[in-house]
Amino acid sequence: MPLPDGRRWMILPLCLGTLPAVAAPGIDAADAGTAVLALAAAAAVGAFAGRAALRRRRAADTENLAEAVERLARGELATAPTVSADGGLGPVAQALARMRGTLQAAAGARDYLNQVVTSLGDALLLTRPDGTIHWANPAAERLLGHAAAELKGRTLASLVPEAHQAGFSLADPRGRTRETVFRTAAGDEVPVSYSAAVIATADPALQGYVVSARNITERKLAEQRMRYLAQVDALTKVPNRMQFQHLLQRAIARARRGQHRLALIYLDVDRFKEINDTFGHSAGDTCLETLTTRLTRTLPPSAVVGRLAGDEFGVVLDGLDPARNLRAEVVGITRLVQEAVAEPVACQGHQVLMSVSAGIALYPADGNNVVDLIRNADAALYRAKRQGGGALEVYHSDMNAAAVDRLMLKSRLRKGLDQNELRVVYQPKIDLRDGSIAGAEALVRWELAGRGLLLPGEFIPLAEESPLILEVGEWVLDRVCRDYQQWQAGRARPGRIAVNLSLRQLKQRNFITRVHDIIRRHGIPPEALEFEITETTLMEDARRTVRILDELHAMGLALAIDDFGTGYSSLSALQQFPIGTLKIDQSFVRHATTSHDQATIVAMVVEMGHSLGKDVVAEGVEAEDQLRFLRALNCDYAQGLLFGPPMPADAYADLLADHRHGAGRYRPLFARG
Ligand code: C2E
Ligand code: MG
Ligand code: MG
Repeated sequence: MPLPDGRRWMILPLCLGTLPAVAAPGIDAADAGTAVLALAAAAAVGAFAGRAALRRRRAADTENLAEAVERLARGELATAPTVSADGGLGPVAQALARMRGTLQAAAGARDYLNQVVTSLGDALLLTRPDGTIHWANPAAERLLGHAAAELKGRTLASLVPEAHQAGFSLADPRGRTRETVFRTAAGDEVPVSYSAAVIATADPALQGYVVSARNITERKLAEQRMRYLAQVDALTKVPNRMQFQHLLQRAIARARRGQHRLALIYLDVDRFKEINDTFGHSAGDTCLETLTTRLTRTLPPSAVVGRLAGDEFGVVLDGLDPARNLRAEVVGITRLVQEAVAEPVACQGHQVLMSVSAGIALYPADGNNVVDLIRNADAALYRAKRQGGGALEVYHSDMNAAAVDRLMLKSRLRKGLDQNELRVVYQPKIDLRDGSIAGAEALVRWELAGRGLLLPGEFIPLAEESPLILEVGEWVLDRVCRDYQQWQAGRARPGRIAVNLSLRQLKQRNFITRVHDIIRRHGIPPEALEFEITETTLMEDARRTVRILDELHAMGLALAIDDFGTGYSSLSALQQFPIGTLKIDQSFVRHATTSHDQATIVAMVVEMGHSLGKDVVAEGVEAEDQLRFLRALNCDYAQGLLFGPPMPADAYADLLADHRHGAGRYRPLFARG
C-alpha cells in the first residue's frame, strides 16, 4: 500500500507492533544500510514472535470454544462463543453460534411449555405404562399435598383409597373423563374428575400416560345440596312427595324380598283452609310444622313421614310385628297419631285446634305396587273425609271402582294397539337464545272410543306391567319415523325428535337391532332422534344400560336424561352414560319463580349440566316469568304449555313452516325478553 514519503519507515513497527524500539521514527537515511540489516533482523525476530502470538491466540480460541461447547452441553445458552479474528477458528465459532441459536429457540419453546404446564390449574401427572408417576406439575403437588419428588416412583393407584380402587384405572380406550377419589398427604379424601391419555411414542423410556385431574369437591357439595333440596319439603323438612314415593317404592321392594307386610297411611288436615283464612298463612305454616313434629314423635322410629301436598301427609309403617294383627296394629298407631295432632297448637296468641282424617292401605293385601297402594290409601282417605273430620278408614275393595277399570283398560290396550287407536303428538322444544324450534318430544296418546283421549299417565304404567310396553314403544318409534319422513318430504326441518323409552325396552334382548331396523327402514338419519330415559331407569341396571347406551350413541342417536332431579343418582354416576342432554323435571320449573329453593335447584342443574358439557332443557314452562328466569340462567332449551299444547304431526309441520317464513310464532315472547 503506497504511503506518503517520510512515513515509509514507520511501516514495520506498525506491522510488527512488538518492536517499537527497533524501528523508531526519524532514522537518518544515511544510515540506511545499517538500518536495512537491522530491520531485516528485526523482521525475522518479529515474524517469529508473530507466529508465536498467533499460536497463543489460537490456543486461547480453542480453549474458548471448548468452554463454549461445555456450556452448551450444560444447557447454558446465555453467552456466545468468541474467538480472535485471525485465529482461523471463525467458521467453527460461527457454527457453534448457530447451534446456540437453535438450542436457544428449542429451550425457549421448552421453557414456554414448562411455564404453561406449571401455571395450569389442573393437576398433570406423567406415568409409566404401569402407572408409576415420574413427573407432576405444581397443581398436582397442591392437589395431593405431596412434593413432586415424593410422588415420583409411586403408582397413581396407590393414592386411590381402597373403597374406590375397583372403579379406578388409567386405560380407557374412549379417553372419557371419569371420577375417583385421591387420598392426600394429610389423609383427606378429595373427589376428582380425571382423564388419562396414552403417550404414543416408539421410545419405551417415554411411554406411559399423561393424566390430568381436577378437584370437584365444590361440585359435589353443590350436588348434595341440590339433592337435599330436591328431596325435602322446605317447610317441614320431611321428604317431599317425590322422595316419599321413592321411599315407599323401596319399602315395598324390601317387603317383597323379606316377605313381610307394611302399611301406607294418608293423612289430610281437616278444614285447613279455614285455619289459613282465620289465622293467616304463617299460622297455617306453624300448624303444619307442629303436626310434623307430633307425627314423628308419635310414630315408631322406623316410620317414614312425607309431605305430599299442602296439608296432605303420608306415612309408611314398616317392620310391623308379624305376630300381631296388622290391621289392628296400624289402626291403633293411626289413632295415636290423630290424638297427638288434636292437642291444641299455641300460635300467635291463639289456641288452634286441628284434626286429621286418615286412609290406610296395606301391603300386599290392598296393592303390591306403589301405584295401587297410593290410589287405595287415597280412596280410603276420601271415604274418611266424607265423615266430617278426624275419621279413619282402612281400604276395602268396594271403595275403588278404579281397580276394576284398570283391569279392563289393560286388556283393552291390546285391542287398542291392533285397532290403531294410539296417536303421537309433538311438543316443540324451543331454543332459548332466539325462540327458534330445535326439535320436539313425541308423546303418546290413546284415543279410546267412549273415553276420549287418554294421557300416557293413564295407560303407560299399565302397559309397563307386561310386554305390551315393547309393542307400544316400537309403535311410537315407527310412527315418529313415518312422521319425520313426511316432514322431510314437505321440505320442513323438524330438528331432533325425542322419544321416551321405558325400562322394559332397554332390557329387551334385541333392542338395538330392532331400533336399527326401524330407523333404517324409514331412511331416517339416527342423528334426527333422541331417546329420553329417566334417571331411575338409567340406574336400574347401570352396567348393562351403559353398554346399550354406548351402542345407541355409537349409532349416532342422541340420549337425554328425562325428569332430572327426581331420581337419586348422583351426577357422577350419570357421567358414565353417553348422555348429551339433561331435562330438568317440570316440578322444579313450576315453582322456580316463586320458591327460592326450587330456583336454586334449577340454577344448579343448569350450571352443573353446562360444566359437564351437557345441554339443559327445562320442562313444563308455562309462564313468561319462568321463560325469563331460564334465559337469565342461560338454560339451552325449553318445552311447555307457554308454547302451546303438544300437537299432531301436521300441526308441527305448520309450526315449522311458520318459523321458516319468518313468522316465528314464539318470537314475540323472545322480543319482550
Ligand atoms: P315426560 O317425558 O316428562 O313428558 C312431559 C310431560 O309433561 C308430558 O305429559 C307433557 O304433555 C307434559 N307437559 C309439557 N309441558 C307442560 C307444561 O307446561 N305444564 C304441564 N303441567 N305439563 C306439561 P304427558 O304427555 O302426559 O306424558 C307424561 C309422561 O308419559 C311423559 O313424561 C313420559 O314419561 C311418558 N310418555 C309419554 N309418551 C311416551 C311414550 O311414547 N313411551 C313411553 N315409554 N313413555 C311415554
Ligand atoms: Mg320425556
Ligand atoms: Mg320429563
